[in-house]
Amino acid sequence: MSPASPTSLYGVLGLPVAGNPTQEMIEAAFDAAGLDARYVSLEVQPEALADAMRGARALGFPGLHITVPHKVEVVPLLDRLTPAAQLSGAVNCIKREGEELVGDNTDGKGFVDSLRELRDPRDAVAVVIGAGGAARAIVAELALAGTARIVVANRTLGKATEVASQISAGTGVPVESAQLTEPWTVPGDADVVVNATTVGMSDPAGRIRLDWSQVGDGAIAADVVIAPSTAFLRDAEEHGHRAVDGLGMLVEQAVIGFRWWTGIEPDRAAMRAALEHELGLG
Ligand code: NAP
Repeated sequence: MSPASPTSLYGVLGLPVAGNPTQEMIEAAFDAAGLDARYVSLEVQPEALADAMRGARALGFPGLHITVPHKVEVVPLLDRLTPAAQLSGAVNCIKREGEELVGDNTDGKGFVDSLRELRDPRDAVAVVIGAGGAARAIVAELALAGTARIVVANRTLGKATEVASQISAGTGVPVESAQLTEPWTVPGDADVVVNATTVGMSDPAGRIRLDWSQVGDGAIAADVVIAPSTAFLRDAEEHGHRAVDGLGMLVEQAVIGFRWWTGIEPDRAAMRAALEHELGLG
């Protein structure tokens, strides 16, 4: 009789991890695929990250997610990065390939896959509000997906300028920076406008005051904030634009990680249902 193979162990390292719904989404996908695998949410203090990564190597984790505040600090602890991770300078998903740990950034890809339900970003003019971790990953992936031009608008102009110059130099796509003041007039040629700030996260009524009057009908407003609706999306819809919520991005980035780790196409509907249940929406 051959010995049973051990259960594969995956997980997320972050601080805090309580309330992170990824465990429920990934375990729903393991169940749906009939895989003998578990996913654990692990709290890791910043000073313990290097030890935690050595432990994950020793324990043979086939895949890991990395979340706030470790996405940048984990980079030097890895053997290789994908182009998206190199461009964004941050990693949120790791795969073990042989003895190597390879880092990717799936936030931007998850965003682009979720956007593709309404339009392909190729040749689009995109406006990204924010210049933090999520914004950087989204700008990188929009550039890799062939957008014509990107404007990065941020309250702290220096951060927008840094993101714009790095991603423009890395991809050849024109990326400009803009000072976000309130109210801010959204450029009239925008096809896709992204709220990639934290505004709307803790206060559902929170909004950056935007003047949509220059933008033609039928643009797409996409929010990264993990909620089915936000003041940003409602305002955009009132101006005749279409909305993409942040739940889709979260599901899609989990789908991408699952597929990369296992080679199996996960059950997206089961993942979305698990996410909505965990967030008290379903
Ligand atoms: P971050 O690195 O801390 O960046 C925060 C950004 O928000 C900065 O650009 C900051 O501007 C801006 N900001 C904060 N308060 C503001 C205000 N009152 N007015 C204008 N701008 C303001 O955060 P992050 O990691 O990028 O996360 C951003 C959001 O993305 C969070 O809500 C997070 O939950 C969400 N997220 C969602 C997904 C998903 O799958 N849906 C994935 C990743 C992240 P300054 O630079 O001027 O401070």
